[in-house]
Amino acid sequence: MTPKTRKLDTLIIGGGHAGLTAAITAAEAGARVCVLEGAPKSHRAGNSRHTRNLRPMHQGPILSLTGTYGEDEYWDDLLRVTDGQTNETLARLTIRESAQSVAWLYRHGVHFQPPLGGTLHLGRTNAFFLGGGKALMNALYREAGRLGIEVHYNAEVIDLKFDGKRFEEAVVKAEPDNRSFQAKTLVAAAGGFESNIEWLKEIWGAVADNFLIRGTPYNRGEVLKLLHARGGQQVGDPKQCHAVAIDGRAPKFDGGIVTRVDCVSLGIVVNDNASRFYDEGEDFWPKRYAIWGRLVAQQPNQIGHVIIDSKSIGAFMPPVFPPIVADTIGDLARRIGLDETQLVKTVNRFNAAVQPGTFDHTELDGCKTQGLEINKTNWARPLDQPPFSAYSLKPGITFTYLGVGVNEKAQMLMATGEPSDNVFAAGEIMAGNVLGKGYLAGIGMTIGGVFGQIAGREAAQYALK
Ligand SMILES: Cc1cc2nc3c(=O)[nH]c(=O)nc-3n(C[C@H](O)[C@H](O)[C@H](O)COP(=O)(O)OP(=O)(O)OC[C@H]3O[C@@H](n4cnc5c(N)ncnc54)[C@H](O)[C@@H]3O)c2cc1C
Repeated sequence: MTPKTRKLDTLIIGGGHAGLTAAITAAEAGARVCVLEGAPKSHRAGNSRHTRNLRPMHQGPILSLTGTYGEDEYWDDLLRVTDGQTNETLARLTIRESAQSVAWLYRHGVHFQPPLGGTLHLGRTNAFFLGGGKALMNALYREAGRLGIEVHYNAEVIDLKFDGKRFEEAVVKAEPDNRSFQAKTLVAAAGGFESNIEWLKEIWGAVADNFLIRGTPYNRGEVLKLLHARGGQQVGDPKQCHAVAIDGRAPKFDGGIVTRVDCVSLGIVVNDNASRFYDEGEDFWPKRYAIWGRLVAQQPNQIGHVIIDSKSIGAFMPPVFPPIVADTIGDLARRIGLDETQLVKTVNRFNAAVQPGTFDHTELDGCKTQGLEINKTNWARPLDQPPFSAYSLKPGITFTYLGVGVNEKAQMLMATGEPSDNVFAAGEIMAGNVLGKGYLAGIGMTIGGVFGQIAGREAAQYALK
């Protein structure tokens, strides 16, 4: 490709769900579209390929979704998890526009399935992709091909040239010479900065070296940094992110959903000092799993250990790695590298504090401990039936919330509050407008789909006028 000869209408940076949605929408509106994807083809589609579902508002059973899920209930759910730290205009826009997201995906070759065991409680609110995020993204890439959208892989954007608040050119790293792409409009959909460990360390300190990144290693935040440097408004707290506790043996990047450990509420969790540090039975696991990444991040060496006994085997979705198993708590302690005396003491104290009750993992059963500094408030049962099993836990970062400000047309806002002329943003790179903190299962893909469509439509309209 000859440098500086591209005469594009709309350039999309990032080949995930938000980017492909914007690309397809812009191409359908008549724009000549090009997608720059930093990853090689084998690793295209960023974090989107790891997903399972999105959360659409709906007025009746559609496809795999049961019941109804209206704007007010959705808004209340979002308000609760974010503690009010959300832009109401953009959040309500996301909710309302999500009503057509399932139909849009279906029209573009994505199929849906009912939730499987372990996620049945999400059957009303979350639409599950048949074959998961990878099948969804393959369908969208097929559509992009059908529409004649150019896709460049290994196309890492390393510079953006602006004239004031107007985008002019993107520079892609290449040998021997970098390549340059000019377009009338830009859609930035290059994700957050979760896989940039150095950047995470600037915020979290050295402990970030012990974080595992659940998704793509390619979301390093270069585009986000460039947009801020070119005057784009900064939105979101750099420390806010979605982080869960995952199996400590998971790979540094791209472990995906199979590394999640879902038995915390069935047992106890201790740190490297063999001490408990939080109420494992505070609420249903799906409502609490997103706080455990942070909790473990605050422990020595950023490690936790879940301990269960044989009563709990079969009651949760097993992670991909088998547990460490032993016939006694002392032996288990030795095998996982904890102080034997201390772990036996912690378990004995816990067991002695368990109050009588009827265990029922399908409801908040009130089976609790009494008299401990940190009580377990539901599903407390003595750990007394060998063999005992342990899974190690480490913080698993899903995605960061620091982003660029946008308006209802998905136009990037400048630090002055004015919209940029021709820069739009969608997906993780602007999710912090809606998610100031906390998380609602399925809203990541919902934000990407809604703002992907808005950005694609607006970018094409601007480019073609
Ligand atoms: C394990 C896991 C499970 C998840 N499950 C769900 C779920 O079930 N439901 C849900 O709603 N959300 C889920 N999420 C969150 C969800 O993945 C994101 O919210 C969503 O995928 C964001 O889409 P996106 O297009 O903005 O980002 P991505 O899909 O991450 O796409 C960004 C793309 O930008 C590219 N890129 C980055 N930098 C550059 C650059 N400099 N130049 C060119 N390209 C670049 C990357 O290669 C990447 O392909 C999950 C995340 C993970 C990690």
